[in-house]
Amino acid sequence: MILPGAMLGVLGGGQLGRMFTQAARTMGYKVVVLDPDPMSPAGAVADQHLSCPYTDPDALDYMAQHCAAVTIEFENVPVEVLRRLEKDCLGRPGSSAVDQVQDRIREKALLRKCGLATVPYRAVYHSGDLDAALASLKLPAILKLAALGYDGKGQRIIWSAAEACQAFADFGSKPCVLEQRIDLRMEFSLLLARSPRGEIAFYPPAENVHVSGILDTSIVPARTSPDVIARATRMAQTLAEYLDYCGLLAVEFFLTRQNELLINEIAPRPHNSGHFTLDACLTSQFEQQVRMLCGLPPGDTRLLSPAVMVNLIGDLWQAQTPDWGAVLGFPNAKLHLYGKHAARPGRKMGHYNVLAPDVAQALDLAVRIRQNLGQRV
Ligand code: ADP
Ligand code: MG
Repeated sequence: MILPGAMLGVLGGGQLGRMFTQAARTMGYKVVVLDPDPMSPAGAVADQHLSCPYTDPDALDYMAQHCAAVTIEFENVPVEVLRRLEKDCLGRPGSSAVDQVQDRIREKALLRKCGLATVPYRAVYHSGDLDAALASLKLPAILKLAALGYDGKGQRIIWSAAEACQAFADFGSKPCVLEQRIDLRMEFSLLLARSPRGEIAFYPPAENVHVSGILDTSIVPARTSPDVIARATRMAQTLAEYLDYCGLLAVEFFLTRQNELLINEIAPRPHNSGHFTLDACLTSQFEQQVRMLCGLPPGDTRLLSPAVMVNLIGDLWQAQTPDWGAVLGFPNAKLHLYGKHAARPGRKMGHYNVLAPDVAQALDLAVRIRQNLGQRV
């Protein structure tokens, strides 16, 4: 077990790295953040911020020498960086698990190998692959870049062969997946923590509503049947055990109109839809990440209160800084701002959680706050 006083490392300095750093420092660990951005939200609250490229050999030597263990806040850290660090210190999750989920083609192949249902899809490496891919899927489809997409970026809806060719070219003719667009009954995510000894803890499922490809609202617990949750839990567990996973794993599910359960994608880290845990669970997802990294047993994941989380996206700043009294005026609403300097459209700037005796009341208050903030309802 790695105990407080030790130095932990995190690769990536966005809001997830920031909340990890805050949790770790609250527990008495020291944290070094590696992120090229000198204004990184995590760097601002860390013991040390190495503001250089992820592949910088001196920075990696420093982390390897000083950190007892290193984790990630996003899955696109070059795998060779993780492998380098693993030579000298613990890396959790491990480079092999991260490697398998970094790229949508490898990620979907992994899911299939585990016998887990995915959206019907075809890998597209060259424009010549598009015709066969289109012929085997029902339209509309979605073309997604295989690597480096997030918040709906690098995705385009496809209604025809011409649109598919254009989109593939616009994406730089890089490897993609073409997926069938699913008629969704619901999206929800399951977040689990798995320790080095194989202990698993599941958080309650979060029902997710996206707007323009970006998570907008998470409702917890998800309003679906115990049977659906039990099936999803088994699927997530199968995957975590197959990978001999250590750390936090977020699994995004699509529930179709026919009640079929498909895995959309997975993230080897805390997840935006898990931010409710900051206020509605004894162990936040970030404290849990620290616990898994340090070889401690999983903390309690029970839901202490129904909760609704609403993301605050940069668009809200267009006219002026929002009036935070609209959130803070309510005793059961909690505001979280990430300390980002520039509020660009589509950029995640913060979120608020609303806790209430039931989901309906939490949603009502979340909507009122949204209206007071001038957010689109
Ligand atoms: P990201 O990496 O940006 O989160 P996702 O693949 O999860 O990418 O897509 C973002 C959102 O777009 C999903 O949460 C869902 O709302 C919608 N979406 C993505 N793929 C599909 C699909 N095949 N069918 C229906 N909706 C989809
Ligand atoms: Mg997603």
